[in-house]
Parts: sequence; C-alpha cells; structure tokens
Amino acid sequence: MRKLAAGNWKMNGTAAELAEVDALVASHGAPSVDILLCPPATLLSRMSDRAGDAIATGGQDCHANVSGAHTGDIAADMLVDAGAGYVILGHSERRTDHGETDAIVAAKSTAAYNAGLIAVICVGETEGQRDAGDTLNVIAAQLANSVPDAANGANTVIAYEPVWAIGTGRVPTLEQIAEVHDKMRADLVARFGETAKDMRLLYGGSVKPSNADEIFAIDNVDGALVGGASLKASDFSAIITALENA
Ligand code: PEP
Repeated sequence: MRKLAAGNWKMNGTAAELAEVDALVASHGAPSVDILLCPPATLLSRMSDRAGDAIATGGQDCHANVSGAHTGDIAADMLVDAGAGYVILGHSERRTDHGETDAIVAAKSTAAYNAGLIAVICVGETEGQRDAGDTLNVIAAQLANSVPDAANGANTVIAYEPVWAIGTGRVPTLEQIAEVHDKMRADLVARFGETAKDMRLLYGGSVKPSNADEIFAIDNVDGALVGGASLKASDFSAIITALENA
C-alpha cells in the first residue's frame, strides 16, 4: 500500500496560492508516498494542470446525482473533468454546515466510484461523544452507514478526524488514535475482507510538522488528512517527508 499525504485547503486560496503547489512539485518530484491536494473548486482545474504527475488533486465534495437542477453543486464527473482523482466526502464541516447524514455521504461516495474517483470518506466523534465514552461506537456506525458496499482498497480512503481536533491544535493521545485506527481496520476487514487491508486509513486533526513523526509511527495510520498545515508548502512538505520516512 502506498501511504497518502492529503491536504484539504477548505475555503482558502486564489490564484496567488498556486505558487505553493509549484514549490511542492519542485521538492517532491518523485515521492515515495501519494500526495493529494484538495483546493476550492475554483482552483481545481488550474491546480491539476500545475501539479503534474507527482501530486494528485481532488474535490472537497460532490453531489450524489450526475447532473440536474442543483444550483451551486458539483457532480463527480465534473471533478474528473477538472483533473481530480479523489474527492473528500463527509467532512465534519459538511456534516455540520450542510446537514450531511451518513446516508448522503454513502450516496455521494457511490457517485464518486461511478465517476472513477477515489472517495476519502471522513468519520469522527465530537468532544461530547468522546467524553461520554461513545467514540468507538460512533465511528463504527459512521463507517457502517457512510461507506458503500462497493468500497474496496482501491476506491476508498478513510479519514479519522475527531471533530474536536480539527483546526484546534488539540490532538488525541497516540493511544487514542491507535485504538480508533485498530478498530476501524478490524471493522472494515470484517465487512470487506482482504481488500480492506489495502484501504488507507488517514488520521486528521491538527497534524503539523512537529507531531507528524509520532502519528505516522502508529500502526494502521497510513497517512494524514491535513487542513491548515497543507496551505503552506514548507509545512506540508515536512509532513510529506515525515510520511516518507515512517
Ligand atoms: C481537516 O480539515 O480535515 C483538518 C484536519 O484540519 P486541520 O489539519 O487544520 O486540523
């Protein structure tokens, strides 16, 4: 399995920030891990053109339908047309801001598969759920209901992102990350069999150059989904290098 360093630019970036992509391409021409950047939709095509072969690009969402009267939405085929190979689905910000349920995330994931995209399906507990001791049950339910039956190691990446760790600078303990990732692997193998051993399991939530080494040393952590620290090439590059060295 090739590990994956994925960056989520969220609603950040205009043409000027494409210089960060140029800097990444210059320092990671032949990476030993997969590199993915998911910019705002407005930059996707231009970023794909500049990123070349070394860096894949992806959308941050897609619609479950292939076309139609859905103002403001983007179909999976349109992401492919703009050069994307991946799409992030079910990010907690979309689950919260746009009311996305597990069923919606599963429908969008199926649309992504049908378009030939790799779905990066996000799961994660809130702080209240962790405090209540519900983390493993919450993650198991999100996996069971957000990941379609057609998932396999080639078309699906899972990102474990505790909601309370996103953009906060707070990170679970290494033991807490290990516990969730081990359970996710076990659940996915129980459901999908051997192919789930190739399904990359990313940790996301305040990953930085300073904590990447220790997070990447955890079993069943096959990379990271990085928000804030993916916006600057110098920071994201250090995280990529940490993953290459893990
Ligand atoms: C994210 O948005 O997926 C994320 C993990 O953000 P950050 O790295 O900024 O916590």
